[in-house]
Amino acid sequence: MQFNQVIGHLKEKQKLIELVGQNRLPHALLFTNKKGNGAFPLVMALATYLLCTDRTAEAACGECNSCTIIDRLAHPDLYLTFPVFNKSKTSGEPSTCKDFMVDFQSFITDRPYADARTWIASLTKENKQGNTPANECNELLRKLNLRPLLGGAKISIIWQAEFLGNNGNRLLKMIEEPPKNTYIFFIAEEPDKILQTIQSRAQLFALKPYSNQLIQDALIANNIDSEQAKEIALMADGNYDLATHLQEDDKRAYYDMLRAWLNAIYTDNLVGMQQSFLAMDALAKEEVKAYLHYCIKLFEQVIRAQYLSPDTLPLSVKEKNLVKGLKKQGLNGYKLEKVNEEIESAIYHLERNVYKKIVLYNLGMNLQDILLKKEVSI
Ligand SMILES: [Zn+2]
Repeated sequence: MQFNQVIGHLKEKQKLIELVGQNRLPHALLFTNKKGNGAFPLVMALATYLLCTDRTAEAACGECNSCTIIDRLAHPDLYLTFPVFNKSKTSGEPSTCKDFMVDFQSFITDRPYADARTWIASLTKENKQGNTPANECNELLRKLNLRPLLGGAKISIIWQAEFLGNNGNRLLKMIEEPPKNTYIFFIAEEPDKILQTIQSRAQLFALKPYSNQLIQDALIANNIDSEQAKEIALMADGNYDLATHLQEDDKRAYYDMLRAWLNAIYTDNLVGMQQSFLAMDALAKEEVKAYLHYCIKLFEQVIRAQYLSPDTLPLSVKEKNLVKGLKKQGLNGYKLEKVNEEIESAIYHLERNVYKKIVLYNLGMNLQDILLKKEVSI
């Protein structure tokens, strides 16, 4: 991974290149980012640059032995640490990253912008909790104390460092007095779950969320048609991993969910409302947000249908029929705006980690109130 292959974060790239060039790169860095926001690819680009034996003032060469093997995540002086779960149900030593390394290499090469939940879900259908066990930290310390095999630097990347929990204490001494040319890069989405002692010893790179425009441009660069790219970027809401994996299937599923939900609301069907609530609650938070963005997009088209024929709108045939159905319900612009405000407020609360069940339950109740009310007071 090279810096110019990573989406966005121009300032941070420049800063990192400068620090390496001036030989001032701190030994411990903490990169924080939202889901799908590129901290892992950025850190991989930094590792590639640091380990390259023929780098220029701007980039790694891409051709030396180090650049070739790091691309396969097989560099002997690069240590990857990530959350795992216990493979075996019987007692014994807990599983470590080594037990999952081949899976992780192939997963993260394919989806460098992914999050921990997607990683664990790629391994098992069961609802397993990932963690970074104590024996993993001990093994990492052992390896960091060895000499670099290729003679350059030694780099440890701790992906989703919040999963370290209190085991992070084991790394403190290493962070304070690292052997020469040894670097530890922490990556986290929820930095407040990282031990304060680690936070205070690592230089922080807080990555800014991706704008929809940046995601849209990246999708267009990947040969996605510009209208579709715009639509996907809106649903993905800054999560590039989600943007690249939001397929037609997801959109169809979102349509079915919304239709069932609206049917339940309009027929005042409590069982149907409960089913819609459970279907939404079963989605991961990022997917709920993508679904709610889809709902907003669809309601915006209902607003446009107040003065345009639904057939001219940029929607699938099924979606056009849904818009026509909603139009027949006599929805006015005021109600529609209220609906979208409620959905936006739900997204806002989800982002601030308000309990998903509460947000979704309230949203269902509020939408029913707005949609079924005969007279709306202003
Ligand atoms: Zn190189």
